[in-house]
Amino acid sequence: MPNDTTADAITADTIVLDPHALARALSGQHFIGGKLTPSSSGRTFAVVNPATLAPIATAADGDATDVDLAVRDADAAQRAWARTPARKRGEAVAACAAIIADHVEEIARLIALETGKALRTESRVEANTVADVLRFYGGLGGELKGESVPFAPDVLSVTVREPLGVVGAIIPWNVPLLLMALKIAPALVAGNTVVVKSAEEAPLAVLRICQLMGRVLPPGCFNILSGFGPECGAPLVEHPLVRKLTFTGSVPVGRIVSVAAAKKLIPVTLELGGKSPMLIFADCDFEKTVAGALTSMRFTRQGQSCTAASRIYVERPIFDRFVAAMAERVDAMVMGDPLDEATDIGTIISKEQMDRVQGFITEGLATPGATGRACSAMPKDAALAGYFIRPHIFTGLPANSRLITEEIFGTVTVVLPFDDAEQALAAANDSEYGLAASVWTNDLKRAMSLAHRLEAGLVQVNQNLVVQANLSYGGVKSSGLGKEASLESMLEHFTHKKTIMVNYA
Ligand code: ADP
Ligand code: MG
Repeated sequence: MPNDTTADAITADTIVLDPHALARALSGQHFIGGKLTPSSSGRTFAVVNPATLAPIATAADGDATDVDLAVRDADAAQRAWARTPARKRGEAVAACAAIIADHVEEIARLIALETGKALRTESRVEANTVADVLRFYGGLGGELKGESVPFAPDVLSVTVREPLGVVGAIIPWNVPLLLMALKIAPALVAGNTVVVKSAEEAPLAVLRICQLMGRVLPPGCFNILSGFGPECGAPLVEHPLVRKLTFTGSVPVGRIVSVAAAKKLIPVTLELGGKSPMLIFADCDFEKTVAGALTSMRFTRQGQSCTAASRIYVERPIFDRFVAAMAERVDAMVMGDPLDEATDIGTIISKEQMDRVQGFITEGLATPGATGRACSAMPKDAALAGYFIRPHIFTGLPANSRLITEEIFGTVTVVLPFDDAEQALAAANDSEYGLAASVWTNDLKRAMSLAHRLEAGLVQVNQNLVVQANLSYGGVKSSGLGKEASLESMLEHFTHKKTIMVNYA
């Protein structure tokens, strides 16, 4: 029953379609030991609506004391959780999926309010994906199988999958719900317990998910802290009882997390940045490819995506026509209030990110020979004074431009012409990143040859979908270490294989 109500009446059983009321109700809290809990210091920080700059809530400002409390709770809960039969753990995670499915609309509205991602094009999609990921992993408890090994007659030698212990998970703000789900679902089904540190820019919707999951998961199995990197993230990755780290975020912080893991000699999974190329050939299905480029650029997420097609290489005969078609389509996209169903493009997350993206645009526009076409239009409503930036499509940039080599994480893409496939492949692979790539052509032989030689964790031909449950996702080179979203990622990254030998001679 939709039941908009006052802050103190909001519980995990209430559906709260007013995101402002939900934001207020969640103010100043972590989720520790199965309940909403303020910081031990009592400190909070402001959460601002990036579309209007109005404060909407506060978030608990976590520190080492809160981390210690949450990790100890997770550690205490872990033994009993690991003894729960694997398929029962899966059923609990699947039950969380069902609860979240019931609350999709309120979660979507809350994530739109706090991150500026448009409700129709992004936020609702993301909220649904969380339920999908939990449902997928919820069915995999029985897959935590070991093997029998032919060692010797009268010796039974088997391997069993055991959980690692407490998992420390650190997530970013761009798709916080999905990225959290990709970590917690396999970790929990495999018998680990989890402490998540949310991104300071997006602490609310993830907290609501935890509160909802608390309806079925035992207290302590699942904890979330809000706070800043050095004050809250660092003590989590360094905590001696945390036995596995999983991180999504920037390359520099990924290195810090990796060093912390090395010092403790514990495993780590890293999903870092990307500078994903699209290779478009003149023989492609033109309309399908223009539509594909539009979604690949992730302009509906303000380009704030690791897999955003931020380098688009187009074969010269169709180059001008392609750029014109793309610009026309982006012009037709509506930038506006993220909560408005008519909006395609919302806001950048923060002033810091907006300044960074604006810096790239200014640099591109000042580059001799380059053209930066501003598309779409700024919202007209004066209340929308937040972090809106017009999407830009650049052409004519030299190969060493920072717009081509660095991850921008904004509504900026670069289109470059090429004359032959080998030249395009060399340019695509000339990057420190290797997350995703796509090839658009009707020549199957060429597509397959490029798919094998592109340096990326995920290559798609004539499509460019976002992360999907059941398909391994993760980068090579500086884009990361390890895979997520699949059965293998649960087995390889959230369990270890113990060998047991029984001599019955
Ligand atoms: P972005 O540049 O997109 O903000 P970051 O890598 O800075 O990406 O942030 C991703 C996550 O890492 C956030 O939750 C942030 O708070 C956290 N983080 C930042 N610095 C540290 C750190 N020194 N140790 C642990 N976590 C950190
Ligand atoms: Mg940051």
